[in-house]
Parts: sequence; structure tokens; C-alpha cells
Amino acid sequence: MIQTIIVFLIIWLIITLILVKPILTIKQRNRLKNRSFSPLWNAIIENNLPIYFCLSSEQRRRLQGHIQVFLTEKQFIGCRGLQVTEEMKLIIAAVACLLLLNERRQYFPRLRSILVYPSAYIVKETAAIGDYIVEERRVARLGESWTKDQLILSWEQVKQDTISWQDGRNVVLHEFAHQLDQEDGKAKGVPILQRNSDYPIWAKVMTEAYQQLCHDILQGINTVIDSYGTTNPAEFFAVATETFFEKPHQLLSHHPAVYQQLQHYYQLDPVQWNYPSLKKHVQ
Ligand SMILES: [Zn+2]
Repeated sequence: MIQTIIVFLIIWLIITLILVKPILTIKQRNRLKNRSFSPLWNAIIENNLPIYFCLSSEQRRRLQGHIQVFLTEKQFIGCRGLQVTEEMKLIIAAVACLLLLNERRQYFPRLRSILVYPSAYIVKETAAIGDYIVEERRVARLGESWTKDQLILSWEQVKQDTISWQDGRNVVLHEFAHQLDQEDGKAKGVPILQRNSDYPIWAKVMTEAYQQLCHDILQGINTVIDSYGTTNPAEFFAVATETFFEKPHQLLSHHPAVYQQLQHYYQLDPVQWNYPSLKKHVQ
């Protein structure tokens, strides 16, 4: 009898925890979002995120809220002796949270830790040569996003990207776009969209643009979307995201359908941002 009661209580406790945890998480996040944002943090973001000035005051307020949640929930780990400072965390969080302004209420749920290297890091890769020979080689990387729970960044590259906004490359946007794509456990270039009816048009537009990019690169034609996007559809989505934020006018002009899909997904319209005025803010 006692055993039955204990089993019943354990099951009841587990069910309660499963039901209560999401409510507590939402409450905790709302509390963090409503906390006043440090003027020092604001100054650091102003100095390192050029498009911060292009956001509306409402978007800035929401970005600040997301940053506070992000910094509370994610763990930063310095690698190869790097001490990850508050400023480093803040800059990475600010760029990553631009991708959350569509208010999906998810904070890269699979991600727990962000590993930061001082500069490019070396990994061993195996590559098949022909049918039988497998070659092991060492390659330098600037960032990586894992489907499990980690994301890796080169701090040197993150910093470089803050001063070269508009070159179409941004390692933080790239790796965190992969996190959005990997949210359902698969990296296939399709993040979780708002409605089921959004998937067919996304698939059509992105597949056509991916094939067009592969064709143009093979033909030696200059492209707005970086050639790395030809690697596979997942890389295409990550690279297109970088282009959307950093070269919106060119993307809209050359790939209007891709721009519209990303505009709808991110709920942002970067062509409205006054990009020419950015340079004076970059230090
Ligand atoms: Zn990638």
C-alpha cells in the first residue's frame, strides 16, 4: 500500500514538474526582460553593433530583453586560455538575439554552451579520396554549430565582423542561423516556420535560389550570396541570413523572393535601415 502511494506521489511530482516548468520559465524570462538595461551594456552594443542605430526604439527594447535572457541561460566557455569578458558575451548575445526579434519565444533551445576561441581553431577532418583512400587533414575554422548543445566561435572573427558589417559575412549570424535550422534536430535549411502553409513556398523559393546559386558559381558568375552557400541547403540558409542582414538591398534586388521569405521569417525589413549612415558609428 505504502509503495503504491509513493509511486503515485512520484508520478504526480513528475507530471507537476513537466507542467509547471514551462510556466516558471516564461515567468523567469519575463522578469529578466523587464529588468532595466545597464547603460554600460547599451554603450558597448552601440559601439559594436552598427545596425543597433537602425532599429526602432521598440525593437531595441525587445533586443535588450532577449539579451538579458540569453546571457542568463547560455554558458560561455573560453578555449585555448581565452578569458571570456562581459563585453565579449554581450557582443555575441546582441548579434545572436537579432535573430529572435520575430518573437518566437524560443532561445535557441538546443544550445547550452558557447565555446569561444581567441582566433581560428584547427580541427581534424577526414575526406574520402576515390573509393578506398581516406585522407585526414587539419583545417582552420572560424565557427561551428552542433545539433547537440554547443556552438563554437573565433573571437577574432566575431570582432572583425563588427567592424566590417555590410561585407555579407558574419560568423555569429551564420552559426546561430544554423541553431534555428537545427531546432527540430535536423540541419536541412528549413527553420520552424510560423504556419504549416508556409513550408511549401519556403521550399520552392529556397530550392530554386539554391540551384540558381550552384549554377551561377559553376558558370563563374558573380553572386550576392556567398559561394559557401552552395555547400548544401543548410549552409545556403545560414549564408542567405548573413546576406539578408548585411546586404539587404542587393539581396532584394537579385533574389526578391528569398528576401521576402527571410523578411517574413525574421519579421524584419533591413532595406528600411539607413545603411549609409552606419560607417560613422563603427569604431
Ligand atoms: Zn555553416
